[in-house]
Amino acid sequence: MNKEILQKAIDKWGKETQINKIQEEALKLALVLNQRNCPTKDPEQMEANLYEELADMKIMMAQAEMIFDANRINERVKFKIDKLQYKIDHFIH
Ligand SMILES: [Mg+2]
Repeated sequence: MNKEILQKAIDKWGKETQINKIQEEALKLALVLNQRNCPTKDPEQMEANLYEELADMKIMMAQAEMIFDANRINERVKFKIDKLQYKIDHFIH
């Protein structure tokens, strides 16, 4: 991920605009995930849309790490991954 370009976007449009963009892309990803097996939609188009929105979300999460406290996010990620490991190891449903 090219963080230099992402920083230019944050500098050009500002943090609040990019935070709104994170919300927008999260909603679009949620929508396309919800519709991905819809029988009335073209499956190839839905798959293309899904990868489009997954890519957008990945870009926006990279910006979120630059706008918010990346260390704090990653501490929570570590905690949650450890918790997931515990659940897997102990067969908790
Ligand atoms: Mg999008």
